[in-house]
Amino acid sequence: MKKFKIIPIFVPHRGCPHRCAFCDQRQITGSAADMTAEKAGERIDRALAALDAERYHIEVAFYGGSFTAIDRESQDALLNAALERKKRGEVHGIRLSTRPDYIDRAILDNLKDKGVTEIELGAQSMCDDVLECNGRGHTARQTATAAALIRRYGFTLGLQMMVGLMGDTEEKSLYTARKIAELSPDFVRVYPTLVLRHTALYDAYVRGAYTPLTVARAVEVCASVLRIFNPRGIRVIRLGLLLSGSEARENFVAGPYHPRFRELAEQRAAELAAGQVE
Ligand code: SF4
Repeated sequence: MKKFKIIPIFVPHRGCPHRCAFCDQRQITGSAADMTAEKAGERIDRALAALDAERYHIEVAFYGGSFTAIDRESQDALLNAALERKKRGEVHGIRLSTRPDYIDRAILDNLKDKGVTEIELGAQSMCDDVLECNGRGHTARQTATAAALIRRYGFTLGLQMMVGLMGDTEEKSLYTARKIAELSPDFVRVYPTLVLRHTALYDAYVRGAYTPLTVARAVEVCASVLRIFNPRGIRVIRLGLLLSGSEARENFVAGPYHPRFRELAEQRAAELAAGQVE
């Protein structure tokens, strides 16, 4: 069986129409040079040259905010760079991440034409009050509608959720996990909320208006979240945030960060499943 290899292309977010409380837009918009189709093509070719293509299933992934919210011309130029290589059999899939309110039939028709195989949506919460409190700018219903449409088109569907957002509670996190499971994603990512500098969440934290989860609490909540996804066969491909790079580490101020977060949550989920611990 071939090994899986992702070629990541970071697309700095141009003109994100929203200001999510937890998101360091400065980092997203300011720290990376603008991505062009030419640069994307070069990056893919460089990565391909270093790989033994026979041994890998290779996918190009457009990361960095809300891909389908950027202008169509730029989307198409970037996707064409990946599609060209897909048509030549050099890459096998194209994936991207975006917001639920930037999904509709016209967008999905275009993504199908461009050879996209997988779409990941930032759902974050399925509680409208939590979404509003954190400035997400979309509703839970929009997430459900977008997820259903993505599935109907036959894309692989990924959903991201966060625990410990402003206004969130353990009950709301578990409700979110159950609602997300009902949308039958192929995989999920679960992120405990961290306080990063240059965010509205940081301001709230400094004012004393927001208290992040402790590591122990976040582990407990995420263990319960795992116990919702695991029995349904929904793969949790990421649990906890990686603070990779010095900039990310410097911007981290508070919250449930632990380098072995996933391991801790899985261990706790196993204990709960075995009925060893109350
Ligand atoms: S999380 Fe995404 S949608 Fe929200 S502000 Fe950041 S880039 Fe924009």
